[in-house]
Amino acid sequence: MQQSDSVESVKGIGEKTAQMLAKLEIFTVGDLLHHYPRDYEVYELPVPIANLREGSVMAIEAGIATFAEVKRMKGLTVVSCNAQDMSGTIRLTWFNQVYLKNVLKRGTHYIFRGRIVRKGAALVMDQPKIYKKEEYRILLHVLQPIYPLTAGLTNRALQKAANQALCLLEAGEDYLPKRIVKQNKLISQKAALGEIHFPKSMETMLDARKRLVFDEFFRFAVCLRKQKESRLLEKNHFLIKETETCRQFLQSLPYQLTAGQEEALKDIRKDMTGEYTMNRLLQGDVGSGKTVLAEYALLLAATNGYQGCIMAPTEVLARQHYESMRAAFEPLGVRVELLVGSMGAAAKKAACARIAGHEADVVIGTHALIQEKVLYDKLALVITDEQHRFGVRQRESLAGKGEYVHVLVMSATPIPRTLAIVLYGDLDVSLIKELPAERLPIKNCVVGTSYRPTAFRFIAKQVQEGRQAYVICPMVEQSEEIEAENVTEYTRRLREELPEQVTVEALHGKQKAVLKNDLMEQFAQGKIQVLVSTTVVEVGVNVPNATVMMIEDAERFGLAQLHQLRGRVGRGAHQSYCIFVNGSQDEKARERLEIMNRSNDGFYIAGEDLKLRGPGDVFGVRQSGEMQFELADIYRDADMLTAANAAAEGLTQEEYLHVCSEIGIKSEKVFH
Ligand code: ADP
Ligand code: MG
Repeated sequence: MQQSDSVESVKGIGEKTAQMLAKLEIFTVGDLLHHYPRDYEVYELPVPIANLREGSVMAIEAGIATFAEVKRMKGLTVVSCNAQDMSGTIRLTWFNQVYLKNVLKRGTHYIFRGRIVRKGAALVMDQPKIYKKEEYRILLHVLQPIYPLTAGLTNRALQKAANQALCLLEAGEDYLPKRIVKQNKLISQKAALGEIHFPKSMETMLDARKRLVFDEFFRFAVCLRKQKESRLLEKNHFLIKETETCRQFLQSLPYQLTAGQEEALKDIRKDMTGEYTMNRLLQGDVGSGKTVLAEYALLLAATNGYQGCIMAPTEVLARQHYESMRAAFEPLGVRVELLVGSMGAAAKKAACARIAGHEADVVIGTHALIQEKVLYDKLALVITDEQHRFGVRQRESLAGKGEYVHVLVMSATPIPRTLAIVLYGDLDVSLIKELPAERLPIKNCVVGTSYRPTAFRFIAKQVQEGRQAYVICPMVEQSEEIEAENVTEYTRRLREELPEQVTVEALHGKQKAVLKNDLMEQFAQGKIQVLVSTTVVEVGVNVPNATVMMIEDAERFGLAQLHQLRGRVGRGAHQSYCIFVNGSQDEKARERLEIMNRSNDGFYIAGEDLKLRGPGDVFGVRQSGEMQFELADIYRDADMLTAANAAAEGLTQEEYLHVCSEIGIKSEKVFH
């Protein structure tokens, strides 16, 4: 068996399961093995009913003492019965599982495991899982993996599949040279995979994680090495000079560039007109004004007779760039083309034809479309916006692609210099340190849900003054499993609570792209005043007139993500506000949110977040900001990143080639 074999070669996985696995991007046995648990569950010995505690998940061994009752309540079917042991009795309840009526026979004994909640005066076990005694014994004291799931796929099914795949895994050779394994005190890859899925203990899980984190970083570092080698001092074969149009563009800006923007501009100009091709990272916190520099670079290419493209991680952002660049460039005689997924096939084809025929000078679109399908006439510049959102895979995929064009990547996440050197070691860096001068710092508050009426009044007042607001909810619609605010309900409620003339609309990922774009456009034009949204607005969106960002269930988001969301306001001259609503009673959650309250500085926030998370807390809310690896976290595992990078750099040529072929780094050309 090889890791590249299809998942269907695993016992018990048929076509149907394979289809569901595909939704999780699991296609091969390797994908399955690297679909890591997001957490573990510990099964403990059953306790006497009298010892049950409210709020925790516990197991009891008990007999069913009453007939199962079926009731209908608010559209749900509730099955319930009493369970009894020597110490007492407790009510068990299930939703929408009518078939249990026939399972729960009076007098039979089971182990029930579920969350203990209070209903009125009594404690109830909510939705318990039912086990036979022998079944439960197997689970006892072993950490049981909990996987990220998709509809139709149960955790048990994934556990089974992982277990089967592990059985197929042959011991084989480790692809890592022995000395590297030894130096870094790593366990073998096979052992690590076994332990990450079914750890014997917390310690062995951490050892496994260490090995797999090392692997992720090492793979990444090898890709970078490849990239560096192929790019080293590529001759600039484009004839590019500063043009009158570029000067005009800069002069017509309605504001003065900040010192950081000026410096970056000089760097870009020097690169593109210089002797070697540009490979530059432009780093600047949200709102620091990176777009205008991308525009400058695109103009520089276009007015010298070349083409340039800019890739955005979301369609919403691509369209926004399109609208604003079209307005800025067309009067200057520079033609702009859009290429995104929601366009019809005919429109896409026409756009591609114009690009190939050089009837377009600047191309704006989403990553996949631009990178994979487009033939250019004279491409000289590729820009990626919000680079950190593209993830590690895409960055790896650029390795060895043999481009000879100028490359500018833009990223908002501030990372320590030591990490930047590794993560972006192949690039020169321009840093914008300051925000535009006239910006007022965003005012923050962390509040409980009881503050809502006040917040709504505040939003109404801001709207009356001509401003706009975002309200973010974690969910699209109501869910049985997760208790969190949802966009659909919230929109309804806000329409009732806010004065009638205020326009409130809902925006979320389940809507059609056309509708999403339309809503975003209307918000940008001020026709919608309050936008209730999921995190689809997280990256890049720029509506300077919006001054309020209210985030419901803020504790559910990573701090980096909260920082990005907050970055949607404070983009204009008006005072802006961010309201973090803590939907939990949890003290730790409050502490984390206080970090956001204290600072608007992304760099500081990332550091404080890390301090709060203890060493065992590897599955807490993830940093969703920079460079999402699978298990690895660049902040937490910074030492490992450095070690893996050193190991990759230190490979002999022979080892290097061997490793490249083992981890499947190929050379292919993407930009034509
Ligand atoms: P980001 O760096 O997050 O991509 P943008 O480029 O979208 O930020 O810029 C945010 C807002 O700031 C935009 O409305 C832009 O027009 C404005 N802006 C950019 N540079 C300046 C500046 N030097 N002075 C004032 N406003 C600026
Ligand atoms: Mg931006």
